Amino acid sequence: MNPESPDTIVIGAGVVGLCVGTHLARRGVKVTLLDELPPASGASYGNSGFLVADTAMPVALPGMYRKVPSWLADPEGPLRVRPGYLPTAAPFLLQWLKASREKQVIASSDAMRNIHQPTFDEWKALVGPQVYDSLIRRTGQVYLWEGGGTGRTPMEDALRERHGVQVQSLSLAEIREIYPGITPSITRAMVIPGNGHTTNPGRLCGALLQTFLDAGGTVSHERVQKIWQGDTGSWRLMTTAGQARSAARIVVAAGAWSHRLLAPLGIKVPLESERGYHVVLPDPSVQLAMPILHKTGYFGINSMEMGLRLAGTVEISGVEAAPDPRRCDVLVRKAQRLFPGLSHGEPRMWMGHRPSVPDSVPVIGPVPGQGGLYTCFGHGHCGLTAGPASAKLVVRQMMGEPVEFDTQAYSIQRFMR
Ligand SMILES: Cc1cc2nc3c(=O)[nH]c(=O)nc-3n(C[C@H](O)[C@H](O)[C@H](O)COP(=O)(O)OP(=O)(O)OC[C@H]3O[C@@H](n4cnc5c(N)ncnc54)[C@H](O)[C@@H]3O)c2cc1C
Repeated sequence: MNPESPDTIVIGAGVVGLCVGTHLARRGVKVTLLDELPPASGASYGNSGFLVADTAMPVALPGMYRKVPSWLADPEGPLRVRPGYLPTAAPFLLQWLKASREKQVIASSDAMRNIHQPTFDEWKALVGPQVYDSLIRRTGQVYLWEGGGTGRTPMEDALRERHGVQVQSLSLAEIREIYPGITPSITRAMVIPGNGHTTNPGRLCGALLQTFLDAGGTVSHERVQKIWQGDTGSWRLMTTAGQARSAARIVVAAGAWSHRLLAPLGIKVPLESERGYHVVLPDPSVQLAMPILHKTGYFGINSMEMGLRLAGTVEISGVEAAPDPRRCDVLVRKAQRLFPGLSHGEPRMWMGHRPSVPDSVPVIGPVPGQGGLYTCFGHGHCGLTAGPASAKLVVRQMMGEPVEFDTQAYSIQRFMR
């Protein structure tokens, strides 16, 4: 192997690739991150910023299939599938529905719990106490419901109980005290005190990049077109930079594009982009003491350094289709209904790709039969939360170290049977 080659190449410099790279570089591994785009400019930049240590909820929950038709029929609903993309998405959607069975939901939730719960400690260990204190708040997170019924979701309650998660109900008077000006149509609210948020995911990932570089890692701006194992057992890569690249080990952390690199090796992973949108409202008249997840409106709101960030929507349209700004208009309308007096500057809109697998459990670990090839992708709605612990997990596996929980649930093997 070329003595100049890194020992390990990480493909993708989103939050997940940056976390993997930093763990490796800190252990003295010669590591290079490859990404055509500037680090953390995709989903890792534009997310809601929630750090959900105490939420381990798969997207597919029991009874979901009954709700899908009404979601699709509602122009303000949380789910959209572009008709032209339906034939491509159908196998993923069917596996999604299959993953909503109770037994699978419990197994997925347990696996998510292992990598969500340590998020605050892991972020602090990665970026250091100074950056942590300036960008991360362990304030708790409020869930809100509007409309009739109890708003209770038995499976979600059961999973919280299973994991010993503390929740506190809020009276309507308490909600109005926390959020002056909120609509009187809120019917139920609760706090998850163990959750929190960052006030700027982009800046947090920027600090992580600096940590990676300080630890001796390097970044190169190139897109990987193909990976294959050379005669000597090392991995070879073809990239848009046209350079000969090789490494003893590769970690695929390319978010919603990861499966494309594995398919030519005969490995099929049902990875789909759950496209999500955000709107930043600069100079908002409302500041949130705690971020909100609106459970019946299916969107999140977080006060960030840039303004009020509203985020939500699951749009299944692949990674190529142009964004649909109407999804952002919906978010603004919902926020204005929640805070009727809300005033703000010119909204800024964004769309990004959540890298999702049907069972919501990220694909982490060695690829069987492909010595030196590892994966760390598929973090769906929770990659900012789970990125640090996922990276620690895959790096331990690379180093042959023991892990205190069962790692089978994350293995790519579940798709290779
Ligand atoms: C609207 C929205 C709200 C969200 N809210 C939250 C939240 O509140 N909390 C939370 O925990 N998570 C949240 N998420 C999810 C979270 O943002 C993602 O799970 C996470 O960012 C995924 O990180 P990643 O590094 O895997 O992917 P990405 O950030 O997409 O990075 C992947 C990188 O790989 C690169 N790449 C792709 N193909 C190649 C290739 N062939 N060669 C080289 N590089 C390649 C891409 O350019 C990209 O930079 C949200 C996501 C969205 C969209």
